[in-house]
Amino acid sequence: MSRPTTDVLVIGSGIAGLAAALGAAREGASVTLATKATQPEGASTWWAQGGIAVARQAPEQFKEDIDVASSGTSDPAALDVLVQNADAAVRDVLIDTLGVGFDTTDDASFHFGREAAHSEARILHVDASTGRHIHEPFLAYLTDHDRVELLENTAAIDLLRADELVTGALLESDDTVFCQHAGATVLATGGIGALYSRSTNPAGATGDGIAMAARAGAATADMEFVQFHPTVCVADGDPFLVSEAVRGEGAVLRNAAGDRFMPAVHPDAELAPRDVVARAVQREHDRTGEVMLDVSSFDFGATFPDLTALCGEHGIDPSQGIPVVPAEHFLCGGVVVNTNGRTTHDGLYAVGECARTGVHGANRLASTSLLEGLVWGLRAGTEAAEHESTTRGDSSLEEAGSAPSEAFVGAAFDRLQRAMDEHVGLRRTPDGLVQALDDLRTLKTEVDAFAGAAAPRVVHELRSACAVALLVTEAAAENDVSVGCHYVMDNSEPSHGAGATAR
Ligand SMILES: Cc1cc2nc3c(=O)[nH]c(=O)nc-3n(C[C@H](O)[C@H](O)[C@H](O)COP(=O)(O)OP(=O)(O)OC[C@H]3O[C@@H](n4cnc5c(N)ncnc54)[C@H](O)[C@@H]3O)c2cc1C
Repeated sequence: MSRPTTDVLVIGSGIAGLAAALGAAREGASVTLATKATQPEGASTWWAQGGIAVARQAPEQFKEDIDVASSGTSDPAALDVLVQNADAAVRDVLIDTLGVGFDTTDDASFHFGREAAHSEARILHVDASTGRHIHEPFLAYLTDHDRVELLENTAAIDLLRADELVTGALLESDDTVFCQHAGATVLATGGIGALYSRSTNPAGATGDGIAMAARAGAATADMEFVQFHPTVCVADGDPFLVSEAVRGEGAVLRNAAGDRFMPAVHPDAELAPRDVVARAVQREHDRTGEVMLDVSSFDFGATFPDLTALCGEHGIDPSQGIPVVPAEHFLCGGVVVNTNGRTTHDGLYAVGECARTGVHGANRLASTSLLEGLVWGLRAGTEAAEHESTTRGDSSLEEAGSAPSEAFVGAAFDRLQRAMDEHVGLRRTPDGLVQALDDLRTLKTEVDAFAGAAAPRVVHELRSACAVALLVTEAAAENDVSVGCHYVMDNSEPSHGAGATAR
């Protein structure tokens, strides 16, 4: 079954997909926006807390901060694009088009927050729940747009292609599978949190876009650079992020003995780059049994009312300290794209967390992801609108195929997460990575046996997660240099990752 051809098919409704849809619609293209989410909370964008960074009067300093956080591995051309377009894109889309009410000071000018590894306050925010204040009006705006058709609860399960030309995607909604042909296709499917047992991402973050692109032969890069956020509260088993903005306000980290440990680790102490803080938190947690975020130096309730409420919902009294551990948070690598979001395949674009623009290199600076999604989304949507193709390609999936039991799917996700938690987490060893490769290749073979197009959505998600887990692990095994989020130790040291100790 086929739907009428659309000019631009966007897959995913986080900030990157919404910006791509807006960019294409502004060029006069017809846009089909397919998302497997059934509610805004299905996108990481909705959950974003700290805010969105802008360049203000110091673009060179902004670039320098991003590059330092990445240990000098970010791509200068990508940084130029991000920083030169930052303020205009935020002003145009978020403020003038959507009317996002960023927090202001008493004199009605914007209040800029500061987070770890930023040398100045440059982050626009709405309390500590910025994501939903951007995402909801953005979705509403495009829902009402006459050139945009929004298909919710609709998952892309494979790309349609003729050799290296991508011509749309195979979509599934309510167990019905159909072809959506398009002049250009934009992947905006977000992150890979579901590969780990502990993540800040929503449950559907199975890396589908990266898996589909890789299956089609498009290049991926920097897949070993999986960022773990240092301060995630898991007190009641339901993880929630405690924004870096809290440390920006002066909160400090203490181990079970009550000792502050970050000043001995890095000159910027709690405001060191994320990878450094995350490893130190994990080490102190392992060594002493607990790490607490001490917020007693300022009025936490008045400064972060949203986070105070969230703590309350999880039974935490912030005045006693907030227990934290690292958890998977963000993938710095992804599908290789140029400065307009174009992949190595004709007709295929990738934006947001599923894309590797080169901005983040080996480690992402806080509050640059929403910005990257916005800037690249607009640029990719604008270019995609001009990409014409009347070719109708095919999916590589068999139509039929037997379905596995629910028990198999649950157990397979457990095996996948165990391999990633234990061997491909915050700290890795060569032997651990070999073990993970072995486990994941066996699992992938078992899972791929069920990969017919008609399989339930969860099987396609499991298949994506296996493929992406292998990409991450293979990249990690090939890189023996510790840099940014990729930290390799001797085989003699225990290689468990962020997920292993908290279970
Ligand atoms: C708790 C939390 C706090 C954060 N705080 C900040 C912050 O303050 N500042 C900042 O810059 N960044 C922050 N980040 C990171 C940032 O939110 C994300 O990296 C960014 O929102 C990713 O946007 P995206 O559009 O690429 O993906 P997402 O927002 O994750 O959207 C992906 C979309 O793709 C859909 N999708 C996935 N697979 C398919 C498929 N097969 N078919 C159809 N649809 C599919 C999903 O349903 C979803 O709608 C935070 C992340 C989290 C989780």
